Amino acid sequence: MSDATPLVFDGHNDVLLKLFRAGGPSKAGAFLSGRDGAIDLPMATRGGFGGGFFAVYVPSPTDLEFKFQEMTKDVYDLPLPEEIEWEDAMPVVASQVAILFELERIGALTVCRSASDIRTALTQKKIAAIFHIEGAEGIDADLHMLDVLYAAGLRSIGPVWSRPTIFGHGVPFRYPATPDTGDGLTDHGIRLVKRCNALSIMVDLSHLNEAGFWDVARHSDAPLVATHSNVHAICPHTRNLTDDQLRAIAESDGMVGLNFAVAFLRADGKMQSDVPIHQMLRHLDHLLEILGEDRVGLGSDYDGAVVPEDLTTVAELPTLRQAMAEHGYDDTLIKKLCHENWLRVLETTWGS
Ligand SMILES: [Zn+2]
Repeated sequence: MSDATPLVFDGHNDVLLKLFRAGGPSKAGAFLSGRDGAIDLPMATRGGFGGGFFAVYVPSPTDLEFKFQEMTKDVYDLPLPEEIEWEDAMPVVASQVAILFELERIGALTVCRSASDIRTALTQKKIAAIFHIEGAEGIDADLHMLDVLYAAGLRSIGPVWSRPTIFGHGVPFRYPATPDTGDGLTDHGIRLVKRCNALSIMVDLSHLNEAGFWDVARHSDAPLVATHSNVHAICPHTRNLTDDQLRAIAESDGMVGLNFAVAFLRADGKMQSDVPIHQMLRHLDHLLEILGEDRVGLGSDYDGAVVPEDLTTVAELPTLRQAMAEHGYDDTLIKKLCHENWLRVLETTWGS
């Protein structure tokens, strides 16, 4: 792969959604040769991107232009999209999982099922991919599909995106506002968490509302993890975590991946990309203060969000590493932030 080190292994990307929209598994080859997006193999090699959580996500028929326009205002409150039925979600899930395995077949990445798989891939300079589901619309109430997808390699799931499911309720995109926006997990949601614990599938807290967060904290026996969320005390957005939530994550020995999405970084919550890297360091400092050096990582949201203009693709990750070093983070801490902490928490959660 690359001389840019330490390799970044991060908590969230949406490249599978982008390839799905581009036409499905037959378009996976663009990942090898270069594509118009934030992640592909040539850019990963240049920037030292070692992999991360590859999300399978069923998009709502949302008007993105309206959403982007609203999120440039001083105050906004986007309505939650409607629930998506399992029957409608399943073909989209199947297609994105097929893209993930097509990427593996053509040699673009390795689908990792254990922490040692990830270590091996990073050593061999292969992109290490975790099969992750963002929003459990593809899982049925009986959880049969959870078992099937686990057998296929699923190792991480968020019960909700910012949308209701049969399992719980996501936070709407609202600023300024607390994440306390409604009811928590349903009975199905509690059963999902317990089944994930039994199978050693990681449960992702990002996009859950606050009541849902505390329900997972109550019912899960695994470390609490938010793959791509930021600090509410700095940017009071519904998608960010309050200090109380961060303290609960610390107590569980879990972790948080820093989201690069500008609307969750900027103090004004606006979806505008003129964000200095220093603003990301402010969030990292706060996360480190509450969570400690072993419980903070990255969760870029590449190919799924508007990100800072100096960090638009994985090829630009050296800029972030350099900013961390100039900010006074030592080599050990930078390595932890780049990938070691993710390996630590996955080892604990998965048991290998
Ligand atoms: Zn997300």
